[in-house]
Amino acid sequence: MARRCIFCTIARGEEPKTTLLHEDERFVAFQDRSPGAPHHYLIIPKEHIGNPATLTNKDIPLVESLAEVGNKVLQEQGGNMEDKRLGFHWPPFNSINHLHLHVLSPTSQMGFLSRLIYRPAFYFVTVDSLLQRLQAMPVDQPVAPSSTPQQPPATKPEGEQ
Ligand SMILES: [Zn+2]
Ligand SMILES: [Zn+2]
Repeated sequence: MARRCIFCTIARGEEPKTTLLHEDERFVAFQDRSPGAPHHYLIIPKEHIGNPATLTNKDIPLVESLAEVGNKVLQEQGGNMEDKRLGFHWPPFNSINHLHLHVLSPTSQMGFLSRLIYRPAFYFVTVDSLLQRLQAMPVDQPVAPSSTPQQPPATKPEGEQ
């Protein structure tokens, strides 16, 4: 839990201006403060997890769960399930360094600027392309102990010289 992180505050239910549309053990969802489409929600893990570039293939279930919650919230709020976009801003284009999934719908009613900001590109990755990226990552490779001798940790000087 990072100090002074607005999304951590929201996840704790301590941000009075933010209404949680969904809450379970791991996630909360709420409306984006400056909506880029008629329906624009943010889904965040309660745990402070960093931006999408820090994720590895171990986080595939996390990304899938975020998308699941996002779809559920969008449906409950009456969004257009046929015309939606789910994605993440890529650093340094993410304004808040607490993993958050944007859910927008209908994309056909997004304004010019929103189309740009939430366009699948190098600065905004959709859930699908993030999952592809994570799936392409090598799983922890087992290394033969003989081929890669473990480096002993550098010993720190005991005291100041
Ligand atoms: Zn946070
Ligand atoms: Zn964002």
